[in-house]
Amino acid sequence: MHDNSTLIRARIRRCVSERVAPAVYRASAPLVVSAWEVPDEPVPFAEARRQAFTPFAVGRRWGKPWGTTWFHVTGTVPEEWSRWGGLDTRTELLVDLGFLSGQPGFQAGLVFDPAGNILKAIEPCNSYVPLPLGPGGVVDVYVEAASNPDVGSNWKFRPTPVGDKATAGTAPIYRLRRMDAALLDTRVWQLQQDIWTLFGLMEELGADLPRTADILRALETVTDRMDPDDVSGTAGLGRAILAPVLAQPAYASAHRIVAVGHAHIDSAWLWPVRETIRKCARTFSNVLALMDENPEFIFACSSAQQYAWMKEHYPQLFERIRERVIEGRFVPVGGMWVESDTNMPGGEALARQLIAGKAFFLREFGIEPLEVWLPDSFGYTAAFPQIVAAAGSKYFLTQKISWNETNTMPHHTFYWEGIDGTRVFTHFPPVDTYNSVLSGQDLARAQRQYAEKGASNLSLVPFGYGDGGGGPTREMLAAAERTKSLEGSPTVRMATPRAFFEEAQASYQAPPVWSGELYLEFHRGTYTSQANTKAGNRRSEHLLREAELWATTATLRTGAVYPYDRLEAAWRTVLVNQFHDILPGSSIAWVHQEAEAAYAGVRVELEDLISRALAALNRQNAAGPDAPGSIGAMPVSFNASPFPVCGVAALSAGPRGTSGGVRVDARDGRFVLENDAIRVAIDARGLLVSLVDLGTGREAVPEGKPGNVLQLFRDTPTQWDAWDIDDHYQRNGVDLLEADSVELVSRHAGHATVRVSRRFGSSTVSQELTLAGDQTALEIVTTVDWHERQKFLKLAFPLDVHADRAASEIQFGHIYRPTHENTSWDAARFETCAHRWVFVGEPGFGVAVANDSTYGHDISRSSTGGGTTTTVRESLLRAPTFPDPGADQGVHVLRTSISMTPDVLGAAEQGYRINLPLRDVSGTSVTPVVVSDCASIVVEAVKLAEDRSGDVIVRLYEARGARAEGSVSLGFPATRIVETDLLERTVAPVAVRAAAGADVRLVLRAFQIVTLRVSRLTEE
Ligand SMILES: [Zn+2]
Repeated sequence: MHDNSTLIRARIRRCVSERVAPAVYRASAPLVVSAWEVPDEPVPFAEARRQAFTPFAVGRRWGKPWGTTWFHVTGTVPEEWSRWGGLDTRTELLVDLGFLSGQPGFQAGLVFDPAGNILKAIEPCNSYVPLPLGPGGVVDVYVEAASNPDVGSNWKFRPTPVGDKATAGTAPIYRLRRMDAALLDTRVWQLQQDIWTLFGLMEELGADLPRTADILRALETVTDRMDPDDVSGTAGLGRAILAPVLAQPAYASAHRIVAVGHAHIDSAWLWPVRETIRKCARTFSNVLALMDENPEFIFACSSAQQYAWMKEHYPQLFERIRERVIEGRFVPVGGMWVESDTNMPGGEALARQLIAGKAFFLREFGIEPLEVWLPDSFGYTAAFPQIVAAAGSKYFLTQKISWNETNTMPHHTFYWEGIDGTRVFTHFPPVDTYNSVLSGQDLARAQRQYAEKGASNLSLVPFGYGDGGGGPTREMLAAAERTKSLEGSPTVRMATPRAFFEEAQASYQAPPVWSGELYLEFHRGTYTSQANTKAGNRRSEHLLREAELWATTATLRTGAVYPYDRLEAAWRTVLVNQFHDILPGSSIAWVHQEAEAAYAGVRVELEDLISRALAALNRQNAAGPDAPGSIGAMPVSFNASPFPVCGVAALSAGPRGTSGGVRVDARDGRFVLENDAIRVAIDARGLLVSLVDLGTGREAVPEGKPGNVLQLFRDTPTQWDAWDIDDHYQRNGVDLLEADSVELVSRHAGHATVRVSRRFGSSTVSQELTLAGDQTALEIVTTVDWHERQKFLKLAFPLDVHADRAASEIQFGHIYRPTHENTSWDAARFETCAHRWVFVGEPGFGVAVANDSTYGHDISRSSTGGGTTTTVRESLLRAPTFPDPGADQGVHVLRTSISMTPDVLGAAEQGYRINLPLRDVSGTSVTPVVVSDCASIVVEAVKLAEDRSGDVIVRLYEARGARAEGSVSLGFPATRIVETDLLERTVAPVAVRAAAGADVRLVLRAFQIVTLRVSRLTEE
């Protein structure tokens, strides 16, 4: 036979686009449109309906950026439609708001009936709504249309003013193209789906396969036999021709796909949170409409926050969702409050993501998701497996690691092992997208890429348009139906993620193990971009720790009322802002302005809670039985750190100890500051030229390589500006060595400070280097008035330390990463995330660099003729210009400390110290409510139980990375002490060896997290 397959394919394509697609709607009729433009922020339906609508012609421009226009749509469907087709037709509203072809979720509408019931949404790839017709074919609906600007704009990454309402302009940006009633011909639509699936499959199959030829000839026959002038009348014939090809069953060995309906809706990103709430309402209304028509359709939705938004803003929709949740088809997954970043949230915060999320699902639906669902976050902390397991979850799903620029993850289904050894069964969908459309291309890719073939043959495909694109469509469900068992295609069935995980685990005998972090070799700028958002997160996390600790202490000591509601509200604000485009700094200006305002509010709120708790404790102490004769108030310091600070015991209040003071020697522009522990030298350029541990005499600064060097680099990533730092930044940098002034600005017995002022570009920086008499660290406060664009500011400390690896703090512990670049995996880790500290050391000696709001770091080594210099650099500031062209401009205050310590525990101590400054008040001493007698068993949280029973929750972890044994004593009458999971549910004791009265004997494995629940005598 002559090979004319290329021509046939072209012919089929033309037949589909010119004949079949236009015949999907048999007829259409324009409707009458009137409009009301909302003056500013969105309003509810009831308010919109009361407004005066004015006539609006199709074809007119509408919608200022970030605006909302309500269209009232009325009319009558032509009478003859009811006589045509009968069961093979249905009447729909067809809308084109001026849809752009790029991202599917920026212009969209929600359609209501006149009573305010939500019918369905419209988006560029999902632009119909089944029309409820009144008597005589009367149409009467309202469309709440959102004119969100297309910030992404085909991913050119050009700076744009549209991400801020203040600079986005007010001219209309869209044109209303269509508002019709239309008659869907379901036979033609079905034929269109048959062809789409078969053609897509054929394109993926080898040209030499008989199956490929069978499909091609069948499609050719359809184009031969169908009447192009009467597609509707011959669609049935076309389908009959294709039926035998569609009926051929799948190969016995075909890859098996569990398709899960999904819509990845970022909680904020290129739009503000308020638009996310509407995106959720639109997508979920589509999902509910689709569920009414397809009983097999299952939709997985993560993020308790999204459900909570529906409950608050769309209560009717929420009740419809609840019904489907109970039925098991609208499936809460993930169990987190939001799909958070996992690099930067602190240990307690990451735990609270799961605690708050699961509590919501349990309370609202009686359902506990067992799979953590994070398709899109930018890398995954090695602390996560233990946190997942401690929350009672069993499975983990991500997809993002396929975005790695350098290395390919070797596994798709595996055990992921965390720093403490906990393993979680993990799946990484080989389809390589969390927005699949179930095309032949997607399905074939899942099968082709699946790395576990031969041992496992099952993968998960999340399908549906995300980010307001509307979620799964009826076309995707049609594709799933046609690929249940189709020769040449993987088999597709719709099921829940849990069903997938159970089957995948049961059917895979010995999955491989990936140990340590799932580092994303991409988006490394997200540890640094939008420094104010990051500082807000760090401050809030520590204020929450303090507020819970002191409020608990006040409740236990004085009977003060515990502020459950206010703490919960503050936590929720912090949790939502840890979303994976907010905390990472990859959102538009509007989002970051709101985040900063939210953090400012949290700060005021928590400072108030802390003040109240401290006041209650001081009142009580002043008047209490332990203070006979009411000892007068004295200066005391509240220490919220789990380590003693300046002579004040951990988690207590008391007077500071005395110190030996600081000695200063200033000559020739050089300053030598010395206390009883360390001696530092600062040269005339303001650089750290010596750092000596007086106990051992060890010098930490290498000869000729000073520290405290600010370095400014060109920062022009190839793409994804706020997200990415490309390694080529390192080739264009300067050391900012010239100082305008270096002077001793403060000197008294307690401490000495040297201030250094510099200018560079359009910016200024001042640094205050302070040595206090009672500290073992040099503290450096860097204040930058930052007005650079596309520049990257680092603070470098070359260290005379021979280290193959560096420890970086992560949640509930630390991770070691190589300081060298032996493998491509090591080389790709050229920028890494750390929490409060990094540590580089040799046995018995090391240096800790701690910070109060920095996450990005790089730690490298260089050779100096036989010796090794290990250089620790903090990434202080960036200034990306997309998606927020003004990112990071303005004043930033960043604190750093450098100290010498024999091991990581000393680094942990400094990390807490710089983030939890002592609170000096006038009052009396307060004894701690929890005391750990083992330095490496660290108290991470003290709070009252989530169930508001009044029980006390104490969370601890092992911080050195080694087995630890010790006792924890409770400073209040305890009646019962049990070990629990993160959700404060009793578990079989693992760490608790004995509990007698108020003492608990614990044995912890390296990095183990332990939660204790303590019942106590209450006053009644
Ligand atoms: Zn995302």
